[in-house]
Amino acid sequence: MSIQKPKGTQDLLPGDVEKWQYLENKARDLCRRFNYKEIRTPIFEHTELFARGVGETTDIVEKEMYTFQDKGDRSITLRPEGTAGVVRAYVENKLYGEPDVSKLYYVGPMFRYEQPQAGRYRQFHQFGIEAFGSTEPSIDAEVIALGYTFYKEIGLQNVTVEINSVGTPSVRTAYRTELQAFFAPVKDKLCKDCQFRYDRNPMRILDCKVDQKYGEGAPSILDHLDDECNTHFGAVQDHLTAMEIPFTINPRLVRGLDYYTHTAFEYKSAGIGSIDTIGAGGRYNGLVEQIGGGDQPGVGLGLGLERILLVLANQGVEVPKPEPIDVYLIALGEPAEKEVIKLLYQLRQQGIAAEKDYLGRKMKAQMKSADRYNAKYVAILGDDELARGEITLKKMETGDQLTVTLADLAANAAKTLFE
Ligand code: ATP
Ligand code: MG
Repeated sequence: MSIQKPKGTQDLLPGDVEKWQYLENKARDLCRRFNYKEIRTPIFEHTELFARGVGETTDIVEKEMYTFQDKGDRSITLRPEGTAGVVRAYVENKLYGEPDVSKLYYVGPMFRYEQPQAGRYRQFHQFGIEAFGSTEPSIDAEVIALGYTFYKEIGLQNVTVEINSVGTPSVRTAYRTELQAFFAPVKDKLCKDCQFRYDRNPMRILDCKVDQKYGEGAPSILDHLDDECNTHFGAVQDHLTAMEIPFTINPRLVRGLDYYTHTAFEYKSAGIGSIDTIGAGGRYNGLVEQIGGGDQPGVGLGLGLERILLVLANQGVEVPKPEPIDVYLIALGEPAEKEVIKLLYQLRQQGIAAEKDYLGRKMKAQMKSADRYNAKYVAILGDDELARGEITLKKMETGDQLTVTLADLAANAAKTLFE
């Protein structure tokens, strides 16, 4: 039997890849405008990094990691998300020593052992940003704005932004006790995961897809915020309002881990079956320290690119098709063929996308090939023309023909073809 791709992975073929390049280019351009610089960290890291940086009690670390022993008997994990690696690199390379806030972005594959379905894969791609070194609410708002603008600029409709404040660890101590008291009467009815969460991380029960009904009427973290938290949360909202970014407050949007502080947010858009979250992020003032760095604040987001493409397709949003080629060269006869090979190379070196036939096909088949490539020009070179040092170009859009000299094409193809 032939070998097939592993479950939960995808081949991105020409025709699809252009959509990916489009999203990636948009992400890069947006980051240029918001002054985020690209960082590239390893695809695999020491398992310990994710245990600490993502959190022992998360689904990711409990069930979803691709972990293996390498030949040197180290425990290695394929990165399940981007933040932990970026934080490690920030600490290891002492970026905190730089005078400005570190504003970083990444685009790349992540790996999680999940049950594959539409919008959920084992290898998927995230665009993410992280900003380290500032506790200012304006940067929380900037991060939220960047994600929102990304969705908007690629043409995604009906994206909603939900925000919440998860307070600080000390604020959450009282909240956790109250939550446990709230869930105590139904503890036995909760799903198995949530029965664990009840003791270890009760805030995550609010996040559970199975036990949502039991969370109704649960106490709100917003009633527990202290002055510092309220001020921060209020300022984030003010900045979003000033930027005209629509948002709603969802007090049940939680991250139960100690290093999350203040702002938590999610982007939602209907259209991938039961899944509606297309991106998420928040502030994590305790994370750098958790990973062995100093007391440096951070805030970031991660957006799933597969989910974006699914929603774009569902909404019928046009994404770019493959670029057409500029010139398809056809030679009639042996001497012309030699000249065409030379000319092809000359054109390509001048920045022109050029192609020829490599299958010894008849002229008609070559014309069809030019059509498939959506060629702007077909250039036909016969013996007579070769003798005159000329070539005939057919502009495919209009059918117009023009004859130019080979010397002109070789000297300045762009001018000859497109002016
Ligand atoms: P979910 O609740 O859907 O499992 P999550 O909380 O695990 O999401 P995050 O870790 O916050 O997701 O990741 C940020 C984004 O990455 C998600 O909003 C989603 O767009 C994308 N994402 C996460 N897991 C997958 C996956 N297995 N396949 C495709 N995209 C994913
Ligand atoms: Mg998940």
